[in-house]
Amino acid sequence: MIHAVKHHPALELLEQYIEASLAPELSLAIAAHLDLCPHCQRIKMDLEAEAGTALASLPEEQAAETEWQQMLDFITAQPEVVAQMQQRQPFALQIQNSEILVPASLKPLLHNKLKWLNLGGISTAKLAGEDQHNVSLLYIRKDSEVPQHTHLGLEITLVLKGKIYDESGCYGEGDLLINTPDHTHTPRTMSEDCLCLSVLTAPLKFKKGLTRLLNPLQHLFY
Ligand SMILES: [Zn+2]
Repeated sequence: MIHAVKHHPALELLEQYIEASLAPELSLAIAAHLDLCPHCQRIKMDLEAEAGTALASLPEEQAAETEWQQMLDFITAQPEVVAQMQQRQPFALQIQNSEILVPASLKPLLHNKLKWLNLGGISTAKLAGEDQHNVSLLYIRKDSEVPQHTHLGLEITLVLKGKIYDESGCYGEGDLLINTPDHTHTPRTMSEDCLCLSVLTAPLKFKKGLTRLLNPLQHLFY
């Protein structure tokens, strides 16, 4: 059964995505959400159409110049556009002895063999990351819990398979969880394994347990 996506990015975030003003890692999470969410695809099309209308209402001379530039950009971008359209199909990723369909937007990050780090019921594989941002796949086996934590920066989690639960609800395939330093939560799985994409702009800060036990956790997530 297809899960109806319930948790979407805020409109501002979609607008910033369309304007290409988001950090690449955040754009990636939004692009992967769009692959899974017809609702946001429609909003994106409307926003793009609005941007087109705004262009049409520019003074004639200015519009002509901008349109000319856009046409040039369009022509030069063609091979890329075609390549992107061919990539829209989800692809199968082999994870923990099962095959999981992953949004096309993530494909460029998955060309190498993934290296998984495991701790308890949680496994992570880093896809990309520099000093400021970290992009990982997070595989949480059924009946497992990520210890309670808060966020030093932004945490964006996109559910790719299964369900995750925290203090604010249940999240299924395509749902986006956005947490800030104001949020403390304890994500957990119930009867099925869960695969997520996780984007962090700063390490997580664990709230419970012994420091010596939490250090490896920090390492696991960032
Ligand atoms: Zn959406």
